[in-house]
Amino acid sequence: MPDPATDLINRVREAAVFEGFKACTFGRTASHELIVLTRSGKPDGPHIYISTGIHGDEPAGPEAIFRLLKDSACLPRATWTIFPLLNPEGYNRNTRENADGLDLNRDYLHPTAIESIAHRAAIDKLGGVDLTLSLHEDWEATGFYLYELNSTGKEGIARAALRAAAGVGPIDLSETIDKHAAKNGVIRATDSTLDDRDDLPEQIYLYKHTTRLSYTFETPSGIDLETRVRMQVEACRGALGEFCRSYPG
Ligand SMILES: [Zn+2]
Repeated sequence: MPDPATDLINRVREAAVFEGFKACTFGRTASHELIVLTRSGKPDGPHIYISTGIHGDEPAGPEAIFRLLKDSACLPRATWTIFPLLNPEGYNRNTRENADGLDLNRDYLHPTAIESIAHRAAIDKLGGVDLTLSLHEDWEATGFYLYELNSTGKEGIARAALRAAAGVGPIDLSETIDKHAAKNGVIRATDSTLDDRDDLPEQIYLYKHTTRLSYTFETPSGIDLETRVRMQVEACRGALGEFCRSYPG
């Protein structure tokens, strides 16, 4: 039996290649490859980035990526860049951090972990991306919620994601989530609050360098895994479908 991370990487890679993706290795931890899945779309289509598994104790995201690939949910018009498991050692240990105890999602300003050094180098080669999305989970949440960073001047895909997630499970309607003000399951950060952070998370690095539209989807770790996976899958399908439909061209 392969270990859980190897099993996931193998399943995701097989499903992706079947869907016409290229699967490349962009780095390596002590015992696993770090893989990225890419597929080109139409010249007038958007470039969409999805990442997950940066926290090893949040399994719904990587499993959702596998299902989205299996279900042919990556629309052909878009160009896709998908990082399906950024922290395989943590995934095997069921820990938030990597094998050295580092929280990779606080390591994008001056990366020190092999995972984030390799991942940031891969990000820096991408050029501009129209939408970035990372899939996470939260032990304290009572339902699905999301973070939005949006300087496009247009409405993003928060509403589409929440509507789709609400068809599967609860939305966290708290007015404060993770110490941030929240409204109807959405946390919107203003650009001024993103500066002066030494512990830079992946999505803030992306928003500062690579995209004008960034999302983090969070499912509540306290409910069963199958519901969380389905919430992530449906939120992605709803949001990505809406984004591709409304993208000009
Ligand atoms: Zn997380």
